[in-house]
Amino acid sequence: MEDTIFGRIARGEIPADIVFEDDRCVAFRDIAPQAPTHLLVIPRQPIDRLSRAAEADEPLLGHLLRVAARAARDAGLTDFRLVVNDGADAGQTVFHLHIHVLGGRALAWPPG
Ligand code: 5GP
Repeated sequence: MEDTIFGRIARGEIPADIVFEDDRCVAFRDIAPQAPTHLLVIPRQPIDRLSRAAEADEPLLGHLLRVAARAARDAGLTDFRLVVNDGADAGQTVFHLHIHVLGGRALAWPPG
C-alpha cells in the first residue's frame, strides 16, 4: 500500500498528540475532532483498510479494539462509539486502517 500521513505518525516521523502506544499500535488525538474526545487508533503495520485485513491480522485487530476501549476509558469516557470507515464512499480519507474513538457528547444514530 502507499505510505500515508498515519504511516509517518506510526514511525514517529511527524508529530501527533499520542495518548497511548505500544509495539503494535498508536493512539492519538484527531486533528479535526468531531466530538469532545476524538481519538484514532492505528496499527503500526500498514493495512490500508479493514476489508484488506488478512486472517493472520485477527490478533492485531482484536488488540486495536481493546486499545480503543482502554483509550476511551483513560480519556474519562464511560460511553463512546468506535467507527471504522472502509472505503471512500464510507468516508475513509486516509488509507491506513484506523479506529475512530468518539465520545464526550450524546451521539446521534444513524450516523451520516
Ligand atoms: P477517515 O475519514 O479516513 O475515516 O478519518 C481520517 C481522520 O484523520 C479524520 O478524522 C482526520 O481529521 C484525521 N486526520 C487527517 N490527517 C491528520 C493528521 O495529520 N493528524 C491527525 N492527528 N489526524 C489527522
